Amino acid sequence: MSCRHIESVAVVHPSAKGCEECLKTGDMWVHLRLCRTCGHVGCCDDSPNTHATKHFHATKHPVIEGYDPPEGWGWCYVDEEFVELPDQTPQAGPIPRFV
Ligand SMILES: [Zn+2]
Ligand SMILES: [Zn+2]
Ligand SMILES: [Zn+2]
Repeated sequence: MSCRHIESVAVVHPSAKGCEECLKTGDMWVHLRLCRTCGHVGCCDDSPNTHATKHFHATKHPVIEGYDPPEGWGWCYVDEEFVELPDQTPQAGPIPRFV
């Protein structure tokens, strides 16, 4: 493992129960990703809007967690590798499902 961004992961509170942007626009998603820097909830790359990746490009927040339901794995966008998270973020509530 070469990723050192893991040191920057924070205990976060999820910003929404589903993809923050898709909930506003009424769009669908496939899976959710949680930003471990700020708590932004976005949709995965299999989703039409790929908001989690867009969030990374906009903010450079490097590490996300699989989040629907919490899956416990981490991914670093910068190093493009799976990372071991120190903990798992509990869901904020039932997640609305579309797909
Ligand atoms: Zn990294
Ligand atoms: Zn989305
Ligand atoms: Zn973020």
